[in-house]
Formats: sequence, structure tokens, C-alpha cells
Amino acid sequence: MSDQFDVVVIGGGPAGYPCAIRAAQLGFKTACIDSWLNKDQTPAFGGTCLNAGCIPSKALLESSELYHRIGHESDAHGIGVSKVEVDIAKMQARKDSISRQLTGGIKTLFSANKVTGLQGYGKMLGDGKVEFRGHDGSTQELSAKYIVVATGSEPVNLKIAPFDGERIIDSWGALDLTEVPKTLGIIGAGVIGVELGSVWSRLGAKTVILEALPDFLPMVDAQISKEMLRHFGKQGLDIRLGAKVLGAKAGAKGVKVEYETGGETKSETFEKLIVAVGRKPFTAGVGADTVGLELDERGFVKVDEHYRTNIPGVYAIGDVIGGAMLAHKGIEEGVALAEQLAGEHTQVNYKAIPSVIYTAPEVAWVGLSEAQAKAQGYEVKTGAGSFMPNGRAKAMEQAAGTIKVIADAKTDRILGVHMCGPYVSELLAEAVLALEFAATCEDIALTMHGHPTLSENFHEAVLAVDGRAVHAVNKVKKK
Ligand code: NAD
Repeated sequence: MSDQFDVVVIGGGPAGYPCAIRAAQLGFKTACIDSWLNKDQTPAFGGTCLNAGCIPSKALLESSELYHRIGHESDAHGIGVSKVEVDIAKMQARKDSISRQLTGGIKTLFSANKVTGLQGYGKMLGDGKVEFRGHDGSTQELSAKYIVVATGSEPVNLKIAPFDGERIIDSWGALDLTEVPKTLGIIGAGVIGVELGSVWSRLGAKTVILEALPDFLPMVDAQISKEMLRHFGKQGLDIRLGAKVLGAKAGAKGVKVEYETGGETKSETFEKLIVAVGRKPFTAGVGADTVGLELDERGFVKVDEHYRTNIPGVYAIGDVIGGAMLAHKGIEEGVALAEQLAGEHTQVNYKAIPSVIYTAPEVAWVGLSEAQAKAQGYEVKTGAGSFMPNGRAKAMEQAAGTIKVIADAKTDRILGVHMCGPYVSELLAEAVLALEFAATCEDIALTMHGHPTLSENFHEAVLAVDGRAVHAVNKVKKK
């Protein structure tokens, strides 16, 4: 006899657990199976995001930034600090405790919403059946009208630099270091590369990031990515573009990394090497072969616009279906799917996905860059606002950064907002709302912004689009 559910979600990360909660709220009898085990073998809901990604990395970014600011900015505030010391064990314990509080919170939400949370492995057997194998080895058969695959992604393991968990580590390993390495190499100057590079470099590791592409952060508007490269350089992060790693060999003294740059082969030895070259879909053990689930050539589960796979009654959401590998994209898909199963018409707006890099300054963007807008045939007008004349940013001693607005010259509609600066992760919400509501520059121009706030700089950048910024120090493009 199998336990009968309306919805069984396999995967309890940011796509799966909100899907299960929303499905239960809408009256479905719902179970969520999740296999995550932390390094101490304790199971935890929340997937990579809460256990080994977004949340722990933000905790370490915050701690290392505080350390850096105390050491570098106290004097400017007239505060004398004689000794600033780092206790890595305590910093890590704080990080782990934040993850534990949040993953424990999911269990509370499950019980409040009557979701059956099952910790172990879920495998599709066909005909709406799922085998659940608990971490203790016990098994149970579930059946469901709707099965949702939300099994996420895992780091790409490079054949030329395979993870050994000691010298050559992935992003999870890099979040769990117990000492600051003297020298740190990172392959890949993507989001993970610059975030984790910032953490360990602020804490004292001499850090080199090797990036195969000639361009830095190519998804970000070129004006902003160029500015960020300068900021990182000033902070001592050694980012080498056009440096393709050919191989890495771990030995007793470190990892020797060989890379090609400008037609030359060079090598350098690091105490630790983080490989951060992207993530790939994770479907192992979910029974894809057993039920004939169709995957694309890169291993992503194929879905239509309603997250339906090729198997009737089986759906997929989150990293495992590809697109932006971002927790909030997964959350939105999870909620939209649950509501669609209940007959509602919720859709995800893939044109207004916020992206953030939590470095200092932070980087944040939504919509098109200037180059992307031009490539799509728009007649483009742009404006930029520097944080330099912004009173709040100056008072915070964090006036580095720029907000750039990209708009359609014909309709005045905002097509994209790309920025770097203090708390732009939070300022981005206004830009996302602008895109969601199809706002024009005039709409934002007529919206009063509090003074003194960082948000005034978004207003300034929008005004700059039509050459009417009041505090602009950057060049204003006139019509
Ligand atoms: P990424 O795709 O962002 O960057 C990987 C980089 O590695 C690329 O620039 C690529 O050119 C480079 N690379 C690949 N092979 C190389 C080689 N042999 N030598 C040198 N460089 C090489 O991937 P990531 O940084 O690993 O992040 C993985 C995913 O996780 C991304 O989708 C990212 O958006 C997501 N993520 C998001 C956040 C956030 O939202 N703040 C934080 C962490 C991760």
C-alpha cells in the first residue's frame, strides 16, 4: 500500500520547499522529500542555498566586510582601533548557526502548513509512484497525482582540476575553510569566484582569480563591470582575464596551476584552489532513466512553459530546468507551479529577474545592458548617476559606485538598470518594480525619493537619461 498524496515534491531547496508550502496552502495533500546531508551528516531542508550557497556565503561576506571596514575605515570616522583580530572558528560557527536557524525554519513552516517533510532520497518509479528511502535505510512508497522534480544543481568538476576536497575545492569547501590560506587561486571570475575571492582576500589570503574569457562579468553592463574591475584591483584581488587554466596538480606544498595567457603558458602554485566554473543540473538517483524523463544535451530536465515534462503528471522547476541558476527564480517557479496546478494563471516574468553579486561595492542588475539593448534593435538612451555626490553614501564612507539606466529612446520605457555601489542589492527592488510595471523614465522622474537616501541615486540616474540630473558629475547625454 502506498501513501497517497496530491503533490510529491522531490527536492527541498528554494524551488521545492516553497512549491510544497504553496501547494499545501492551496489544499493539496503534499509531501516534500529532500536528501541534503550536511558535512556532519545531519539532514537539513533548504538545499544548496541555505546550507552551502547563498546564506552561508552572505554570512562570511558580511563578517569579512566588517573586519575589512573596521581595519580600513574606522580612522576616517575618528575611531581608533588598536588591534583587529579574526577568529575563523567563531566566524564559521556564526555562519553555521544562521544556516541552522533558517533550515530549521523550513521544518516549522512545513508543520504549520501541514506539508509532510521526508528526509532521504526520492526516486520516481512510474505511474505516479515515488520510492522514499530515508537516511536510516527504511523505505516507503508514495503515490501522487503530481510529482515535482526540484533536485537542483551541483558544481562543475573540471577534469583538468578535479576536486580532492583538500587542496582543490568547490564552493562548499571554500565556505568551510578553517584557516585563511596564505595564497588562494580561483578558477573562474564569475559570481562565486568574486564573492568567495572577496571573503578570503579580505581575511588576508593573497588571491588570484584566473578567468578564461577576455571580458569581466560579461552579463553586466560594460560601464559597471569595468568600474568593478577597478574596485577589485584596488582591494588587492588579482583578476587575470584571458587566462585559461590547462591543468592543476595538488602536491604536499600546494596546487600547481598551469594556465595559458596571451599565447604563453604560465604556472603558479597556491595553498588552495577553488574551482568556480559554473554549476550543472543534478538528477542522479531521481529515477529519470526508470521513467524515461527527457533531459537536454546538457542534462537539464526539458519542460514547457507550464513546467510540464514529457511524462504526464511530472513537472520540474528550479536549477534543474536551466535558465538563471538563482534561488529567487526557483522560488517564483515553485509558487507559480503550485498555483497553476490549482487552476490559477500565475506566470514568472523572466524579463525581470534581479541579479546580485554581494561584493563591496555590490553589483546588481535587472533587464538589458546597453549592448544587449542595442543588439536587440532598440534605439537606446542611457543615464548614469555616481554615488560620489550622494549625501547618504558619503556619510556611510561608501560613495564608490554608479547606477546606469538603459531606456528605449522611442517610448521612454526603462529596459534595464545596472549598478554597483552600497546596498544596490536592496536598491535593485525599485528597478525590478519599474520593469515589472513597464515604467518610463518619466514615471520614476516624477516619483519622490527620500533625502538623504541611497535611492536618490536611482532617481538621479533616471533624470540623467534626459540630461536633467541635478547633482550629476558624470557626463550627461543630452537628447
Ligand atoms: P559562472 O558561470 O558565473 O562563472 C564561471 C566562470 O568560469 C566563467 O566566467 C567562465 O568563463 C570561467 N571558466 C570556465 N572554465 C575556465 C577555465 N578552464 N579557466 C578559467 N576560467 C574558466 O559560475 P559560478 O561563479 O561557478 O556560479 C555558478 C552559478 O551559481 C551561477 O549561475 C551563479 O549565478 C550562481 N550563483 C549566484 C550567486 C548570487 O546570486 N549572488 C552567488 C553564487 C552563485
